[in-house]
Amino acid sequence: MTFTEIGPDVYVWRYPVLDVNISLIVGGEVAVLVDTLSSPSQATELAEAIRAVTAHPLAIVNTHHHFDHCFGNAVLAGPGVSIWAHEAAATILREDGAKLQRAWVEDYASVDPVLAQGIASATVRPPDRTFLTESIMDIGGRMVELRHFGRGHTEGDLVVAVPDALVLIAGDLVEQGAPPSFVDSFPLEWPETLAGIRQLGWIATVVPGHGSTVDMDFVQAQHDQLTELAWLIRDGHRDGAPIESVAAKSSFGREAALLAAHRAYLDLDGRLWPPRSP
Ligand SMILES: [Zn+2]
Repeated sequence: MTFTEIGPDVYVWRYPVLDVNISLIVGGEVAVLVDTLSSPSQATELAEAIRAVTAHPLAIVNTHHHFDHCFGNAVLAGPGVSIWAHEAAATILREDGAKLQRAWVEDYASVDPVLAQGIASATVRPPDRTFLTESIMDIGGRMVELRHFGRGHTEGDLVVAVPDALVLIAGDLVEQGAPPSFVDSFPLEWPETLAGIRQLGWIATVVPGHGSTVDMDFVQAQHDQLTELAWLIRDGHRDGAPIESVAAKSSFGREAALLAAHRAYLDLDGRLWPPRSP
């Protein structure tokens, strides 16, 4: 398996380890690579797959700061290659990258020792080109838009819009095949962020961070599920209910909802950092 064309000169590789999606958008002069996998060896494999599709120079985009989306940066970004990300994602990797790397190695040490070893061997290379709400790239007769609609899966999620192909690359703001990951999330803001994506209006194909490509009906359904969860959490918090009883009611399943409720309770108590935006 390697890249599959999902729109005109837009390619996705659904990589088997962690079922993560890597996208490649080929313009007239430059190719945009969205996310870089988890380790140097995975990134070397990815570099080979890219060269089978295009010989253009690369511009790299990280959808957010999690290792499975950016720990191949150092291998794929040679000299003079820029890495784009939201300002918050870049700051997290710059300031806490080493600490996070150690934590992620520990997380996977017993579940997937090969992956843990790969994460450990990565050189964390933080993005060097950042933006806050919007940045437009001209890649040679083709526009690629980087947008931040607010916090959700993390503090600094971006989406990559390719309007001429009707494709949106959503990162982990949208997840197929498993519940969304709430570990670094802002559950009360996530619905609004997906509502921002929906307002783009023209999207036909959505590439989630993990799983198979989906459409806007899928995004709508996930938005509704997240909205339901946010209200369950608000009600539970107001009533002084334990997070376990809130999680039991969520359609995401207990494990995911527990994490979400934990994060959102901290938020509602003013103890989540950084605090909710005004
Ligand atoms: Zn993630």
